[in-house]
Amino acid sequence: MTTEEEGCLLVVVIDVNPVWWGSSPRKKDKASLTLPQCVDQILVFVNAHLMTSPQNKTAVIGSHANESRFLFPRKTTSHEDQKDVLSQIISLDGKYEQFTKVQTDVMEELKDLISSNTVVSHTDTLLSGSLAMALCYIHKMEKETGVGEKLRSRILVIKAAEDSASQYMNFMNVTFTAQKQNVTIDACILSKDSGLLQQACDITGGIYLKIPEIEGLLQYLLWVYLPPLSQRSNLILPPPIQVDYRAACFCHRMLISVGYVCSVCLSIFCAFSPICSTCHTAFKIKAAPLKLKKKKKMLASGV
Ligand SMILES: [Zn+2]
Ligand SMILES: [Zn+2]
Repeated sequence: MTTEEEGCLLVVVIDVNPVWWGSSPRKKDKASLTLPQCVDQILVFVNAHLMTSPQNKTAVIGSHANESRFLFPRKTTSHEDQKDVLSQIISLDGKYEQFTKVQTDVMEELKDLISSNTVVSHTDTLLSGSLAMALCYIHKMEKETGVGEKLRSRILVIKAAEDSASQYMNFMNVTFTAQKQNVTIDACILSKDSGLLQQACDITGGIYLKIPEIEGLLQYLLWVYLPPLSQRSNLILPPPIQVDYRAACFCHRMLISVGYVCSVCLSIFCAFSPICSTCHTAFKIKAAPLKLKKKKKMLASGV
């Protein structure tokens, strides 16, 4: 341990996508986790993190298909109120009040999040938005830390639903911001591999792990993600994975290895187009006269 006590702010982003949790293809011979069971296991992990050091802090974000929301700390209570609320909580069975507060807040807010979003307009989880919220919160908390205190922050993403290439650009922007803010992004994958999170973990120096058995979630969380960042070099952790560094084209949201890049806005396309659909730049290319005419027409009509 270092002589200087360093606190760690852990922001857990839970993918609560109702489409995935409601219809995940489950193996018939094995019992699989339900969302409340999964959240229960995550809460044990969060409490273990709080118990490791009195300087440790936490936040939990629920990432839904419709919205991203803080499950803890709750939005409704301000910073000052929270201290009062904490003193009012009656300890259950001698349980530490902070643990009771985290558990009840997360469960109540999650219930509200699910029940107020019964209809989903699309099936993707708003992961990039949740990560942006996490980064804003981290920035705020780091600003609020007193002189002499140190706060190292990290984000843990519990990912369930599949990647959506439509969020590629937002996701990469968030990743590079995290890298600049010196925030580590870890990912714990419950179902299919996520190319986006592989890149995010690789860029920010986090651990990417696709767990082989979803039932053992808590074991993996405690083993891989609980030790502080400073201890990671001393541990034998899962070996680094082969990162899928392909980018998604902006026209069809398909992963491509070779493509066309707009020289102005760096948008990626799988096929050549004379006008960039993102920034509307018209490319001056040497083309046959017939094609040139077509291009002029397009320019005159739309852009
Ligand atoms: Zn395309
Ligand atoms: Zn462009």
